[in-house]
Amino acid sequence: MTRLASHKVMSLVQTQGLKMTPQRRVIVEYLQTTKNHPTADEVMTAVNRKFPMTSRATVYNTLNWLKENGMVKEVFEGGVVHFDPHTAAHHHFVCNKCGKVEDIDCSAINEIKLCSLPDHQKVETMEVTLRGLCAACQKKR
Ligand SMILES: [Zn+2]
Ligand SMILES: [Zn+2]
Repeated sequence: MTRLASHKVMSLVQTQGLKMTPQRRVIVEYLQTTKNHPTADEVMTAVNRKFPMTSRATVYNTLNWLKENGMVKEVFEGGVVHFDPHTAAHHHFVCNKCGKVEDIDCSAINEIKLCSLPDHQKVETMEVTLRGLCAACQKKR
């Protein structure tokens, strides 16, 4: 898995002549440790636990900056943007009940034969979304 790495963010900050502010650091650390695909609001809540004065603009700007530099990916699910610190090609499992997005690292999915695509369409990447119930929601049933 290729995940968001601190040293990559640090060298990015240095090349671009930016400052590694405590807020930026906390956002990066949160994205590195979360197993979920947080929305900007979830990142905001987590950062505010440590730095209660962090503005929404700071969180959004930092997330956009990370995205533009290929450090995180966006996953659109349920009409919301989720941020994915796992940037290599992978698949997702989405819970139909709570909307949680989980990673699937299953090479078997790559073996799916794509049938009858028009000749002019050349596939470069494939992201599969499987849907069902997450572990927590299965227990609640
Ligand atoms: Zn669920
Ligand atoms: Zn993911």
